[in-house]
Amino acid sequence: MRAQTTHSPTPVDVLRDVFGYEHFRGAQAQIIDAALSGVSVLALMPTGGGKSLCFQVPSLVLNGTTVVISPLIALMKDQVDALKQSGVRADMLNSTQSEATQEAVKAALVAGELDLLYLSPERLLQGSTQALLDRVSVALFAIDEAHCVSQWGHDFRPEYLQLHQVMARHPDIPRMALTATADQKTRQEIIDRLLGPDASVFVDSFDRPNIRYRIGLKTQAREQLLRFIQCEHANDAGIVYCASRKKTEQLAEWLSAHGIRALPYHAGLDTPTRQDHQARFIHEEGLVMCATIAFGMGIDKPNVRYVAHLDIPKSMEAYYQETGRAGRDGLPSDAWLVYNLTDVIGARRWIGNASESAREVAIADHRRLDALLGFLEHTGCRRPALLSYFGEAHAGQCQNCDNCIAPPEVWDATEAAQKMLSCIFRTGQRHGTGHLIDVLQGKLSDRMTRLGHDQISTFGIGRELDKAQWHTVLRQLVVQGYIEPDPNGHGGLRLVETARSILRNERQLWCRIETVASATGRQPKTPSKAQDTPLWRAFKTWRLEQAQTQGVPPYVIFHDQTIQSIIDARPADLEALGQVHGVGRHKLSRYGDQVLAVLWRTETS
Ligand code: ADP
Ligand code: ZN
Repeated sequence: MRAQTTHSPTPVDVLRDVFGYEHFRGAQAQIIDAALSGVSVLALMPTGGGKSLCFQVPSLVLNGTTVVISPLIALMKDQVDALKQSGVRADMLNSTQSEATQEAVKAALVAGELDLLYLSPERLLQGSTQALLDRVSVALFAIDEAHCVSQWGHDFRPEYLQLHQVMARHPDIPRMALTATADQKTRQEIIDRLLGPDASVFVDSFDRPNIRYRIGLKTQAREQLLRFIQCEHANDAGIVYCASRKKTEQLAEWLSAHGIRALPYHAGLDTPTRQDHQARFIHEEGLVMCATIAFGMGIDKPNVRYVAHLDIPKSMEAYYQETGRAGRDGLPSDAWLVYNLTDVIGARRWIGNASESAREVAIADHRRLDALLGFLEHTGCRRPALLSYFGEAHAGQCQNCDNCIAPPEVWDATEAAQKMLSCIFRTGQRHGTGHLIDVLQGKLSDRMTRLGHDQISTFGIGRELDKAQWHTVLRQLVVQGYIEPDPNGHGGLRLVETARSILRNERQLWCRIETVASATGRQPKTPSKAQDTPLWRAFKTWRLEQAQTQGVPPYVIFHDQTIQSIIDARPADLEALGQVHGVGRHKLSRYGDQVLAVLWRTETS
């Protein structure tokens, strides 16, 4: 049975003493209070919002063990490693451990020596685990990544559907479900399937203020990416998302040849290679992962400084989740994306090809893509546009997105659009972008003459715009749904009914004036360059040595943010070091002297 003894520390005591943090963030305090009062809780927080503290703190306040259900062994291991570093009595049970280790964990559990036990859902469902838990005082069930219970989601795990049967055997033990998936439908499924109607729901803001959203025109994707990395993130860890497996491999090779350490990751690699690349990304500093969307879930690395997209994601949700892997530690990070007309047409065609039987799916996919493309083309602050998709309001003017930093200029492209639409019509609605532009620009060729397109009224009426500008007009027309790729043709574009409204001057078309530099290395520098000092390098070296000796990722020793705070504070002694953000009691006694030594050595050298 759950109980708080009179000697229990308060949540704030635990936060300061064990984790070395000063204040709770967002809804953390409310969530923790609710859990301590014994009600079941649904916690919706963005990635990096601090979900784990919501059950870790109660586990240290309540008597008994908090059982955490986590879908991936890598996730569990990461959290257990980090907790042990902070001196917390936490462990896990899973099939990758030796018999002896598992027996030792069970013994500690039964002896009441564990505050937190991490289990996979499969493990929890086993009869032997049930019997084991019957011998233990369980304080709280915490279900991490609770959206895995949703059959509609991408991360569905059938075992999650059976969890309630286990928890129903312990009706008095409160439950906490946590997820970063915000949509209403998933939320309701979690309540129905894991918590029950009495659950209290807490929703944090899904804004990620430390992420700078930047979206630009793709001209030479690789070179643009390289410049971005070299100018702003030379030694940083990052993820680059590509649409195809082959592309991830080619890109990783190309970046490596240009002095950026990079590895590919996709579902087609054999398991050992995949695991090795993932482990290297987590354990090494400054590695770039060129990946398909197969890479992501279970990557808790807090100091991913940027997420780049060289291909457009499938939806707003996908964009938000993928970019959300940057900057979990709260330090400035970039979400960087480049795309062009070809990408837009390709994405539309891909959905257009869905078979008739999947019509409903195709309509939903179209809507999702519309929302995403509209967001990419958006000329106002990115934040309200992104957050409104998740039902959250934002006042805009964030000053941390491309459009706030350099407000785009737009031009009235209605007349150009009319020329293009007539040109598509007069050439039979079956030609691709290259030929359409050639007609408008009046480029003579054998093919032009053969097709007789040098005789039509739109031939040569568009010389005032260059090819890039015509691309912008076409892209805008595709994005806004005035034209579409012909699903039966080979790259041909055709008119959509709504195109009439432009031709009749009932609607206008506005295009942004493209500046290729907008997405590349000419923005004000992100402060991550602060890490390029001798002191930072000394701390990184020291941290990596510690991590390698102990076989844990560097960030579980100290987060980047904690190192930055140490550098800013320049503590003169252990007492002052203990006041620094992220330095809890246990880490102070374990690493304090070494940290001070690094400071002195580097300062005096
Ligand atoms: P999530 O699981 O929601 O993605 P985490 O629990 O991994 O997020 O937390 C993200 C980061 O924020 C971690 O580095 C964590 O230590 C830090 N963090 C969480 N809560 C606080 C807090 N109240 N103050 C300072 N840092 C915090
Ligand atoms: Zn903005």
